[in-house]
Amino acid sequence: MKILVINCGSSSIKYQLFDMERTAALASGLVERIGEAEGRITHHRLTGAHPRTVTLDAPIADHHAGLTRMADLIMDPEVGVIAAPVELAAIGHRVVHGGERFSASTIIDDEVIDAIQALSPFAPLHNPPNLAGIRVARKLFPRAVQVAVFDTAYHQTLPAAAYRYAIPTEFYEEHGIRVYGFHGTSHHYVARLAARHLDIPFNHFNAITLHLGNGASMAAVENGRSVDTSMGFTPLAGLIMGTRSGDLDPAVVYFMGTRLGFSFEEIDRILNKESGLLGLCGVNDLRDIERRREAGDAAATLALDMYAYRIKKYIGAYIAALGRVDALVFTAGVGENSLLVRELVCTGLDLLGVTLDAEKNATAARGQLSEIQAADSRVKVLVAPTNEELEIANQTLAVVRKT
Ligand code: ADP
Repeated sequence: MKILVINCGSSSIKYQLFDMERTAALASGLVERIGEAEGRITHHRLTGAHPRTVTLDAPIADHHAGLTRMADLIMDPEVGVIAAPVELAAIGHRVVHGGERFSASTIIDDEVIDAIQALSPFAPLHNPPNLAGIRVARKLFPRAVQVAVFDTAYHQTLPAAAYRYAIPTEFYEEHGIRVYGFHGTSHHYVARLAARHLDIPFNHFNAITLHLGNGASMAAVENGRSVDTSMGFTPLAGLIMGTRSGDLDPAVVYFMGTRLGFSFEEIDRILNKESGLLGLCGVNDLRDIERRREAGDAAATLALDMYAYRIKKYIGAYIAALGRVDALVFTAGVGENSLLVRELVCTGLDLLGVTLDAEKNATAARGQLSEIQAADSRVKVLVAPTNEELEIANQTLAVVRKT
């Protein structure tokens, strides 16, 4: 059975086509700069005797044009991997916001489309392009089952004590203002990977998952279910990220507006795009920050210390929330690659049962699941490669099988 995974952003489309019998990616690609003067499509055929990459530079007017090109490439006699649309059993769509309505992946029908549309005010940059992808894919592949996989769904098991904000109840009841949490697909995927590796049944598995990429969030997982997470009503909350501030006294927003004269739009831009590591030291790529720190740059050193300190505080909080923790699971670009961040984060947590093995931390192989805790560490510390596309494909398959 072949499943295509589509992740439609406002100006880009990422796709991957899987053969689910072999759990193998057959093709992947990226459509970039949709709607701009210069567009680009990079397509990889990953299968066969000769894996191939093609790059096409041409303007891509809109999502319809981008997905049509993608469809041509995956069915191309030279670089394609299917011969006709009917070969695709299903398409899994990443949808960022599923609100309280969607606690699991679901088959897309007109009513689900309306619901995703109705949730757009909660994710104005994401849900509309996600929907555009869904609409075009239904036209291009009318025989494929279309499934929506939500970033928020895994966190729908949070208890009210964790998801409510202490503001007047009507803001929750009438306007839906609460913690939703994001990166759920990744948290769920690496938590299951870790449980399987440690041979603990998932419904008995307690863990703290750390998705540290450009965006970053943590989740407290109790008996396989998410019971708390660091992002909130939007992905701005929680950890310090590449360009997002993370947690902040909300009165700072008030002060920026009333005393400093910034508009809501400007404050939104400052906190989402100009803050975090970028705002602290001028760059947001962690590799650059590590190099600067190495060279003695004070701003980079402080940025990294703040970044790690915030994570550490959340670990303490989630150990308190969970009581028993089987594993800390590091994942995503920074979590999988930065031994320095893992070291800064775990140093001083011995009393909480977390002790790293410096050697294992330094030699954890990329792209593989590794244990990096010391022999006497009560809590296992894992580095686990996340794969959101594969998880979307898995979820899509599970939904298709249920029908
Ligand atoms: P996204 O959230 O865009 O999917 P990723 O999960 O790919 O992001 O993570 C991107 C981040 O990972 C970047 O900040 C990058 O600096 C960091 N990163 C990637 N490789 C390394 C590395 N070898 N060492 C430190 N950081 C790394």
